[in-house]
Amino acid sequence: MIKIRIIFVLIFLSVFIMLVYFVKAVQEKNFTTEAQMPQETNKDSLVINKSEQEWQSCLTPEQYRVLRAKGTEAPFTGKYYHFDKKGIYTCAACGNKLFSSENKFDSGTGWPRFWEIFDKGSVVTERDTSHGMTRTEVMCAKCGSHLGHVFEDGPPPTGLRYCINSIALNFE
Ligand code: FE
Repeated sequence: MIKIRIIFVLIFLSVFIMLVYFVKAVQEKNFTTEAQMPQETNKDSLVINKSEQEWQSCLTPEQYRVLRAKGTEAPFTGKYYHFDKKGIYTCAACGNKLFSSENKFDSGTGWPRFWEIFDKGSVVTERDTSHGMTRTEVMCAKCGSHLGHVFEDGPPPTGLRYCINSIALNFE
């Protein structure tokens, strides 16, 4: 009888320890993903502050619709969707370096995808609750132009998926 009790206690203890480790691992994973998300927008820190009239005169109507009016280009239509040259993707509005071809991947959903930004300060983010969804909007850190959204279902090592409009980008 005592033997059975001891075995029961041992089983209980090992299940408890495994549970503690599992919770710890999940917490650490969430923490890592959050830590890698770019910082929230601080509009005062934008280097380029043009009036909407100035933007309108230096961008094409479609670029203006996406970059300044937060539009989205139609899926599978962008010039960088099927594009695998090696180089740097820059902001179509101001030339800020945003993404490297090294971090581009094809997720098959119609827009260029990246799992990492070019530099820590390349983009800023903001909570976006438009169209009945809660998403994280990605903007150029230098001029504040809308680029796309970032989701937390990307590949390792970041677990992030930057879904970016081709028209918001240039390539060099
Ligand atoms: Fe920019």
